[in-house]
Amino acid sequence: MKVIVLGSGIIGTATAWFLNKAGHEVSVIERQPGAAQETSFANGCQISVSHAEPWANPSAPMKVLKWLGKEDAPLLYRFRPEWLQWKWGMHFLRECTPARTAHNIRQIVAISEYSRQTLQALRTEAGIDYDCLTRGILHFYTDQKEFDESLPAAKLMRDLGCPRESIGPDEVVSIEPALARIRDKIVGGDFTATDESGDVYKFTSGLAQKAAEAGVDFQFNTTITRLLHEGSGNAANITGVEVIDAEGRHKVLRADAFVVALGSFSTPLLKPLGVDLMIYPGKGYSATYQITDSSAAPSVSLTDDGYKLVVSRLGDRLRVAGTCELNGYTRDLNSTRCEAITRRTRELFPDACDYDNPVYWTGLRPLTPSNIPYIGKTRYRNLYLNTGHGTLGWTMGAGSGRALAEIICGRVPELDFTFTGIQRGNSTQTLKMQPV
Ligand SMILES: Cc1cc2nc3c(=O)[nH]c(=O)nc-3n(C[C@H](O)[C@H](O)[C@H](O)COP(=O)(O)OP(=O)(O)OC[C@H]3O[C@@H](n4cnc5c(N)ncnc54)[C@H](O)[C@@H]3O)c2cc1C
Repeated sequence: MKVIVLGSGIIGTATAWFLNKAGHEVSVIERQPGAAQETSFANGCQISVSHAEPWANPSAPMKVLKWLGKEDAPLLYRFRPEWLQWKWGMHFLRECTPARTAHNIRQIVAISEYSRQTLQALRTEAGIDYDCLTRGILHFYTDQKEFDESLPAAKLMRDLGCPRESIGPDEVVSIEPALARIRDKIVGGDFTATDESGDVYKFTSGLAQKAAEAGVDFQFNTTITRLLHEGSGNAANITGVEVIDAEGRHKVLRADAFVVALGSFSTPLLKPLGVDLMIYPGKGYSATYQITDSSAAPSVSLTDDGYKLVVSRLGDRLRVAGTCELNGYTRDLNSTRCEAITRRTRELFPDACDYDNPVYWTGLRPLTPSNIPYIGKTRYRNLYLNTGHGTLGWTMGAGSGRALAEIICGRVPELDFTFTGIQRGNSTQTLKMQPV
């Protein structure tokens, strides 16, 4: 079967890899000159299975209210006259109940664990060097209330089989000695030894290279303008994808099946087809610093709970990422937010890096209110979704690609995860479809 994958971030590239492995003829359409140049470019780089709590949780509404209007807030909701943003906000509030949060954590852990196993097998098979560190993730707290509130989530993770240990300040520092200078401020932490980190860009571009060598046709510098369709009801069908290619020519590309893996841009592409995705862009920031003193820099991937920042060591670079701004599709750099990241990193590790030459970046997390992605089918019989991976697209990426390839091959992976448009027991995730 000929399959066209739309988008070459971590999700589209992993999907293309597994479809090719399954024997399909695969093309990938991407507007950038290479793979992983948008949200999968410079993220926090954590494979964070055991810290999979969604942002929508019982304490979120008060925090969001408290942070309204604060330029350097970890999560900033900038109200816009935009129906999608308001609707998304209402759905987010609905996901904040304890029952919904627990349900969402279970789903996220299931797909993330499957994905970590997939990534581990894939890196051995494909032999990609991506500054991978398998030294765990250490989450440290500087606020007693936040630490106390984290204990039930840690217990839930343990109940789900994740080895997440709540620990005291001395143990935090013994796991990551680079935190010694702020020992007095740390009230506790939790450590998940099986979590990992690694450069998502290096991995994805390496995987795209290997996939191309295996026969996947990557069409870069090619912008998708719309999907063409025919029929209605159960007979609805995608007939082609209209693109503007690298030479500026308008073309229609045909295939037997189409996979939408366009991150935040999946929503506007599918809206005219009546496929109503609840994905809103959550702009996040990262800063990358050159390490100047290796012994003063952390080598365990960290999460600084108070500042909602993640820190990952990528060879001789330190990546610090976080914060979220709900403000449409703009990727502008806000200097207040950039400086806040550098200020905090310098405070933590003053002697570790060259802080005068940071490389700042922003990316748009494709956020669903629950942080559960859409992986599966639509009412168009040959249109599939792999999108909406929000804060954890790197963590869930390899497994999402493999799972969707299985679904396209007519199998459903044995996971406690609700795939879109697929009935399993009493559970199905249905998509809202508008008449077209
Ligand atoms: C600051 C920050 C920190 C993060 N940290 C982590 C982390 O530590 N761990 C983790 O697991 N996740 C993390 N994430 C989330 C993760 O980066 C995303 O979930 C993931 O990259 C999404 O991948 P994707 O392939 O769906 O989207 P993308 O990488 O955005 O890929 C979509 C692709 O579609 C292409 N495209 C879009 N529209 C068109 C069009 N019209 N025509 C052609 N091509 C098009 C884009 O160019 C892009 O390459 C972080 C995100 C941010 C912003």
